[in-house]
Amino acid sequence: MNRWQVGNAVIELVQGDITQQDTDAIVNAANAQLAGGGGVDGAIHRAGGPQIMEETRRRYPQGCPTGQAVITGAGRLPCRYVIHAVGPRWRGGQHNEESLLRSAYRRSLELAVENQCASVAFPAISAGIYGYPMPDAARVALETVRDFLQQHGRPALVRFVLFTRDTLEQFAQQLQLLAEEHGTSQAD
Ligand code: ADP
Repeated sequence: MNRWQVGNAVIELVQGDITQQDTDAIVNAANAQLAGGGGVDGAIHRAGGPQIMEETRRRYPQGCPTGQAVITGAGRLPCRYVIHAVGPRWRGGQHNEESLLRSAYRRSLELAVENQCASVAFPAISAGIYGYPMPDAARVALETVRDFLQQHGRPALVRFVLFTRDTLEQFAQQLQLLAEEHGTSQAD
């Protein structure tokens, strides 16, 4: 299942590269130093150009704590904003990882709404170099977005852009489970 309507809003899953998304905002899986790195972060700064890092350094010289997020412009990217969210590094599951991951998603959605973004694209935060295991990373991501949309009714579109076929399938399975819980299976 790749699409689920929550009230007037939609959660959508696609396979692809997040840097190509023309949603109002895209979310970066950043580190607490906002220092740039591999994975999604490297791809965003490469494609967006040096402007994003210049703004990040100027506005957020202290970085960003784990579980929080900050927002910048998007340089050469097709979106308007980049939201830099800091997910937890997986350390076995007993170090508050789940609530920190939830918080990273929630704070990103709050920033999107505060900045009038009707659409936002997320990667699978913490599920790459930070080692958060699947399918838990997918379940936490989708539950947090569902809760936020139920409470706030926006942004109108939340799109997960998953890099690999396998990640997309894991997200699709978790989305199906969530929809079944609600008894509303509007499957594609
Ligand atoms: P983290 O350090 O939070 O784990 P990563 O960037 O290492 O972040 O990985 C997060 C997820 O993003 C992984 O599933 C990875 O495969 C995926 N990913 C890497 N590059 C891209 C990209 N260009 N677009 C979308 N997802 C990507």
